[in-house]
Amino acid sequence: MKIEIKDLHARIADTDILKGVNLTLNSGEIHALMGPNGSGKSTLSNVMFGNETYEVTGGQILVDGQDILEMETHERAQLGLFLAFQYPVEIPGVTVGRFLKRAAEIRFPGDDARVRSFVKHLRSNMQYMEMDQQFINRYLNEGFSGGEKKRMEILQMLMLEPEFAILDETDSGLDIDALKIVSQGVNKLRDETPFGALIITHYQRMLDYIKPDFVHIMYQGRIVTSGGADLVGALEEHGYDWVKKQHGIQE
Ligand code: ADP
Ligand code: MG
Ligand code: MG
Repeated sequence: MKIEIKDLHARIADTDILKGVNLTLNSGEIHALMGPNGSGKSTLSNVMFGNETYEVTGGQILVDGQDILEMETHERAQLGLFLAFQYPVEIPGVTVGRFLKRAAEIRFPGDDARVRSFVKHLRSNMQYMEMDQQFINRYLNEGFSGGEKKRMEILQMLMLEPEFAILDETDSGLDIDALKIVSQGVNKLRDETPFGALIITHYQRMLDYIKPDFVHIMYQGRIVTSGGADLVGALEEHGYDWVKKQHGIQE
């Protein structure tokens, strides 16, 4: 899968947030998107997934050459895109097992073999994520701890095998053990499938466990610089002021 974001502009509540984002993402690549709070990172992930609260005012998002901006969220998911929500919602009365099975049926229509081996596959992925098997019967997100929600996101991702995933601050609020397990989940797909991801994070932490191929820094609604994994360390050392100075950005 090739995703081309071209001169993307978006606004919320009459305020322009994205001011010309250009980014090319491919399956098989791990991209990190960093930047100070309020720079527009979550806006970008929401627009990529078709959250209608955000108004796209210009530009394109092409997936293998096809503009997805007019597509519904579930149609984007069927293409193999995956978005882990920053604050996953509760769905009353739907168990984890049932939810994941339905999601898999939508993602892989007509794949009977996958449906037949679903429970076995689910149990093995849960074991991998160090999750209690009882979890299958819990109601989705009801009373989940922060760590359980994050593991649930990654479990869902392991089951859906997306071609490209957007992980928006999956690392926030995780203790180090949970962070390692979540990172292992991402690395499993990276090793075993043609998986790509845009990992949105405010901190270096998660990128110690998932080494990105590319790093982009967003500031005031634009990608102001891109580089390799070494950009993470430079940023940690010098802070965002350094990026601003280097690129002559005025407040
Ligand atoms: P980031 O994820 O980089 O922290 P966001 O995309 O969440 O940035 O926010 C970018 C800007 O958009 C911020 O100035 C924020 O206040 C504003 N914003 C985000 N969501 C809303 C909203 N629902 N209503 C109004 N303003 C919003
Ligand atoms: Mg934020
Ligand atoms: Mg955000």
